[in-house]
Amino acid sequence: MDAKIALLPGDGIGPDVVAEGVKVLKAVAERFGHTFEFSEQLVGGIAIDETGDPLPEATLAACRSADAVLLGAVGGPKWSDPRAAVRPEQGLLGLRSGLGLFANIRPVKVYPALVSASTLKPEIVDGVDMIIVRELTGGLYFGKPQGPLDTPQGRAAVDTMYYTAAEIERLLRVSFDLARSRRKKLASVDKANVLATSRLWREVAHEVARDYPDVVLEDVLVDACAMYLVRRPAAYDVIATENTFGDILSDEAAMLAGSMGMLPSASLGETTDHGAARRFGLYEPIHGSAPDIAGQGIANPLATILSCAMMLRWSFGLEREANAVEVAVEAVLNAGYRCRDIATPGGIIVGTVEMGDRVVAQIAMGWT
Ligand code: NAD
Repeated sequence: MDAKIALLPGDGIGPDVVAEGVKVLKAVAERFGHTFEFSEQLVGGIAIDETGDPLPEATLAACRSADAVLLGAVGGPKWSDPRAAVRPEQGLLGLRSGLGLFANIRPVKVYPALVSASTLKPEIVDGVDMIIVRELTGGLYFGKPQGPLDTPQGRAAVDTMYYTAAEIERLLRVSFDLARSRRKKLASVDKANVLATSRLWREVAHEVARDYPDVVLEDVLVDACAMYLVRRPAAYDVIATENTFGDILSDEAAMLAGSMGMLPSASLGETTDHGAARRFGLYEPIHGSAPDIAGQGIANPLATILSCAMMLRWSFGLEREANAVEVAVEAVLNAGYRCRDIATPGGIIVGTVEMGDRVVAQIAMGWT
């Protein structure tokens, strides 16, 4: 297959981890006979420095004409002055809305070799393999009115949680499809005992469920879900939720895996005219630009490499190739190689480039 991939390395450790992702994609192309064409673009702080804009028009245009986007991370102390007129994070929000990315998918898998890297007890995190699907373009973060208010009672502020049934339905369909391809369990998370948007969410969830009789749907209140995620996380398969709840729950769930350096993500738009097997998406590690370790060559590239596996599966429909990358990562971990953030007793500490090389070597060997 031929595919065009836009690369947005961004700031801090972003360029280092994206370089390893590209290495892995090239190894996949070589082994399985595909052609991936890469085009590198500016986003975030570096884009502000070079163009004054965190999301230059050329970047958005290149992403729109690509089949998928690989992003590193944006931001850092240099651009974090709250009085600044432009901020790197505006680049991220602009990408999400400009590319119509409405579903954020975050798998959280605890690898047996890394069970001891979690802050939770091994018996709690053992066997965790879930996916959180978060609505990304609606809810509190986008609802209007939003902003400060002057009232007779003094200063106030308002945010608005707003959802249409159509926005809820398209997110739930992605989640049901995902659950159907896995253990066939979907937890739909809401706050239906208090919020009107959540009652609509629950109503739509049960309507959509009629098309998925093979998937078991469970309604879970968000506060209970926050508790169950640390009490019995292995019970979850797919969790679907709205924007704000998903933002919080997905960070909580990330900690089950021990380090942000292990967790990939995908943000998906509508299916393209290539059909469901080829869906445009933006793929990125869930971590930020890690300015505290930038430039030291020690960032863990596995979250980015696993994001590339998601790209192969979700945007290109290349299941065998995605598996090959995931199995290669697991083999490298089982062989004892660790970046510093996932160090376990007896592990062999390697840097960013060596970790990428180890994964590439596994893929090239062809055993995976
Ligand atoms: P962060 O994720 O960058 O770092 C949190 C901690 O995790 C740090 O100690 C860091 O060293 C460590 N860490 C993160 N990724 C790692 C990796 N791959 N390997 C090893 N260790 C890793 O979060 P932060 O420090 O809160 O934010 C730093 C900057 O990143 C801020 O400017 C923030 O706005 C930005 N940020 C960007 C994104 C994004 O681009 N999607 C997401 C979150 C934060």
